[in-house]
Amino acid sequence: MPESLDRKVFFFTFVPLVKRRFETMSGSREYVINYGSLPFGEHEFEFHINDAFFQRFENSLVQKGDIDVLVVVDKKELMMLLDFTMEGHVIVECDRCLEDLELPIESYEELIVKFGEKEETESEEVIVVSTKEYELDVSQFIYEYISLQIPMRNVHDEEENGQTCDPEILKTLEKLQPQQEETPPTDSRWDGLKGINLN
Ligand SMILES: [Zn+2]
Repeated sequence: MPESLDRKVFFFTFVPLVKRRFETMSGSREYVINYGSLPFGEHEFEFHINDAFFQRFENSLVQKGDIDVLVVVDKKELMMLLDFTMEGHVIVECDRCLEDLELPIESYEELIVKFGEKEETESEEVIVVSTKEYELDVSQFIYEYISLQIPMRNVHDEEENGQTCDPEILKTLEKLQPQQEETPPTDSRWDGLKGINLN
């Protein structure tokens, strides 16, 4: 799956995650799951992601969005399984005309949360939390899952997303930068690898 390449690039860029994950952002408790008081078994939590959500993250590629997130928590004695289902859309900037571009988001992710001695990230899908903890802020996970869905290059494209650049803005941009050559179309799935220094 070519998608996994992007995922790896993204993941290793953002390691170490554990510390950041447990920082409470802006003191908000909107996306905190209090699992300590839950009985064993499955429990559903619904969250809504809006513009304010993205503004809590520094340098977020996404500034606007509207996404419903369903988190199914399966609590067991030694771990929890979390299933995230995300559906909605985000608004990013078009790399060509700089206007808003709407991208649909439909994503399913799984996270295993083990109860252990010390907090750590075992892998992309497995984290360990202290047995002394009783709640988990899932906002960082949701943010990462959504970010993974955003291609490195975003342009209005009739075929790809049924949207077109504003012709007036394109004309103005052309006038401003008469020397600039048209960027050839690229496969955005590989864009994630371009920034990597292989030496
Ligand atoms: Zn555009």
